[in-house]
Amino acid sequence: MTTDSLDRVLLLPELKLEKKFAMGKWGIGVVVSKTSSFEVCPKCGTKSSRVYDRRRIKVKDEPIRNKAVHLYIIKRRFYCKPCFKPFTEPVKGIGKYKRMSERFKRGVSWACEKFVNLKEVQKYYRCSAGTVYKTYYDNLELKRRKHTYPFPEKIGIDEHSIRKPKYADVEFATIIVDHNRHRVF
Ligand SMILES: [Zn+2]
Repeated sequence: MTTDSLDRVLLLPELKLEKKFAMGKWGIGVVVSKTSSFEVCPKCGTKSSRVYDRRRIKVKDEPIRNKAVHLYIIKRRFYCKPCFKPFTEPVKGIGKYKRMSERFKRGVSWACEKFVNLKEVQKYYRCSAGTVYKTYYDNLELKRRKHTYPFPEKIGIDEHSIRKPKYADVEFATIIVDHNRHRVF
């Protein structure tokens, strides 16, 4: 593995590189683990340093130079005394029960906007059309929520021609503008 890709793996917060291996010519497998000395129980907030067991989960990460990257994360389960049961340690950048890292999803979403067509996105990220579709729209929804604010006091309605197909009428898009905040609503 080259230095910059190695750095990239290490950039995922709190993870340590254990091992890497080639997956044919198309991908790289990276085994990582967390090294914290204790974790906190999500139910009761008690610290625990007693490792109960370990499990390996597979997560798709952003490709490096056209190669797919699969992270194998060794997740520890800690035993919580007050709760009488184990809990799994969280890993930053990897959602619970998720099979793609946050940056993989951000990458797909970014590519949807930059690439000419979604087939290319699918090819580069080696994922299904369904994943591309879902990731893209999930991200739009996230962005939308970030921009949600009360209905503007003063709005403007604008029409723009977006496309002029041959032998057909020009297509228009209507946008609503928030005049007070100078942005598209
Ligand atoms: Zn607990």
